[in-house]
Amino acid sequence: MNASRLTESLAAELQDIAAAGLSRRRRVLESPCGRIATVDGKNVLNFAANDYLGLAGNSQIARALADGALQWGAGSGASHLVSGHLAPHEALETEIAAFTGFARALTFSTGYLANLAVTPTLAGRGAAVFADKLNHASLIDAMQLAKANGADVHRYPHNDVAALEKMLAASDAPTKLIVTDAVFSMDGDLAPLPLLFALAERYDAWLVIDDAHGFGVLGPHGRGSLAHFNLPAAPRIVLMGTLGKAAGVGGAFVAGSATAIDYLLQKGRSYIFTTAAPPAIACALSESLRQIAAGDALRATLMARLGQLRDGLAGLPLKLLPSPTAIQPLIVGDNAAAVALSQALWQRDLWVPAIRPPTVPKGTARLRISVSAAHTEADIAQLTAALKELA
Ligand SMILES: *Cc1c(COP(=O)(O)O)cnc(C)c1O
Repeated sequence: MNASRLTESLAAELQDIAAAGLSRRRRVLESPCGRIATVDGKNVLNFAANDYLGLAGNSQIARALADGALQWGAGSGASHLVSGHLAPHEALETEIAAFTGFARALTFSTGYLANLAVTPTLAGRGAAVFADKLNHASLIDAMQLAKANGADVHRYPHNDVAALEKMLAASDAPTKLIVTDAVFSMDGDLAPLPLLFALAERYDAWLVIDDAHGFGVLGPHGRGSLAHFNLPAAPRIVLMGTLGKAAGVGGAFVAGSATAIDYLLQKGRSYIFTTAAPPAIACALSESLRQIAAGDALRATLMARLGQLRDGLAGLPLKLLPSPTAIQPLIVGDNAAAVALSQALWQRDLWVPAIRPPTVPKGTARLRISVSAAHTEADIAQLTAALKELA
């Protein structure tokens, strides 16, 4: 085979994707992440970002990043276990453990890497993994890795606790893991964590929770979904949270018992074999954690904007899913109609992405409206008025 045949086969596949109207493209922002994005010189209201508290543009966090870089340099130089674990990383771990209530925490450069470290490492050969069907792609990839390592993997229908219990009861695997998003990233709904925790206790399973969209937003002081449900930082829970969404910076953490965290540190390949994030990121995240903990006013603003959006769209023929979180999906159904609606909003200087299969189930193409504490009342009013006119 020669190189041109290889690239030609890719080109043919790309043409199929384009013909199906499923080509993805990136918009280049000429402005920082914030309530307004500048694209091709045009200002649009940004309902696409996961910056739920508006901290991505926070000047104190940016200052902590800049000061951190001046003090600690640009890079970490190595993986955490070699020589890349600097004092700001260590301090951030301690702060995250204290904030989440767990004994220990590890930090990662991305949530994707964090998820790849947890499930495949805890689920050795002969283990059984039980995962919600709507889990994030990174959890699905983690599950596939666990499978490649010899674990049995099972997917249960979305939030179907009864179906999950049947699967758990039928399994005689010595190690069981229940793996779920806490807030589902395309639906905005919550996993029934108290029921999942009760099942984990009854069947002596790990409960692995991905709180990418709950951390910073839900619970007292923004401690996340576990705190929202008043659940304990139990040793069988391993909590993952991302730090590039509400926290406004980048990276992720995994928190758990001292033993579970030490095990991941010793054996988690996507922790061990990657360069530690720049220490300045940890400096910025320490400041972000302080802002999250003191961010009740931001969370109150976010909740007020969410209420305004839901009230404003109540009479529409298109329906919002019943989401209590910053992710507000407006179900359109047809792929082309969802894209057309997103484009019509863009014409009105409103950026609301259309999400289509395979990211969401067939027939449920939607607009994914991300609300932020940075949005003003007038921003939400502009969006609801446009949707009333178009939908
Ligand atoms: C965004 C996201 C991740 C990945 O986190 P990154 O830090 O962006 O790699 C993992 N899980 C869920 C549910 C997410 O929404």
